[in-house]
Amino acid sequence: MYVDVHCHLSFPDYDDDREEIVREMTDAGVRLLVDPGIDVETSRKSVELAAAYPMIYANVGLHPHETSAELSTDTYDDLARLATAPKVVAIGEIGLDYHYPDCHPHRQQDAFRILLRMARTLDLPVVIHCRDAWDDLFTVLREENHSALRGIMHCFSGDADTARRCTALGFMLSIPGTVTYKRSLLPEIIRSIPIEHLLTETDSPYLSPVPYRGKRNRPAHVRLVTEAIASIKNMTIGETAHAIAENAAGIFGNCRLTDA
Ligand SMILES: [Zn+2]
Ligand SMILES: [Zn+2]
Repeated sequence: MYVDVHCHLSFPDYDDDREEIVREMTDAGVRLLVDPGIDVETSRKSVELAAAYPMIYANVGLHPHETSAELSTDTYDDLARLATAPKVVAIGEIGLDYHYPDCHPHRQQDAFRILLRMARTLDLPVVIHCRDAWDDLFTVLREENHSALRGIMHCFSGDADTARRCTALGFMLSIPGTVTYKRSLLPEIIRSIPIEHLLTETDSPYLSPVPYRGKRNRPAHVRLVTEAIASIKNMTIGETAHAIAENAAGIFGNCRLTDA
């Protein structure tokens, strides 16, 4: 029983074969898929997808890359309205990403703060995307009262020290397919972090694990991520998958994992 806590199944990449992808993931033993929004449009699609499939849950969010233009209050009103839909289990993805030189750190921070407050108001966890922006991320979390927040660092890309800082704040680390890449720091981090803080994701359509690297990713591949964690932790696949499914049920509160 595998869980993919971050999969963009609502993206157009799956418009031609979404049914088949869902069937494939069900056959592969994936029992929970969480589909994050990156803007109003994808958040709406995510909510629709969650309504159509029992094992799919939605996140409503605004990716830091989508904050470079001036945003109207309509955007936040639309997101707040969508966030009250059934099966919305978190606000995400939201966060900071300074990877590209033309990014707008202040606009990203403003949007991030507004969405953290939305999550607090709605009592929902947050799904955070952070790349090359950890210092500012911790500053914003502190200023926005992190003790009233809970959530996930999705596609965790920090170092071991950053991993410890995140778990000390009570955040879970979600491990993507890059754990299978040769130069990944993730195996060392996974060894040092208790299984209680770990989740699995594919971030499909991106970041396909070995041996599918470079191809379109799909939720069925979360099995390979789970296997990688099991071998690093010296646990059986069954124990690992069970522990991670419990973690997902814990953080997403209202989602019932469907039994096959
Ligand atoms: Zn992301
Ligand atoms: Zn994503």
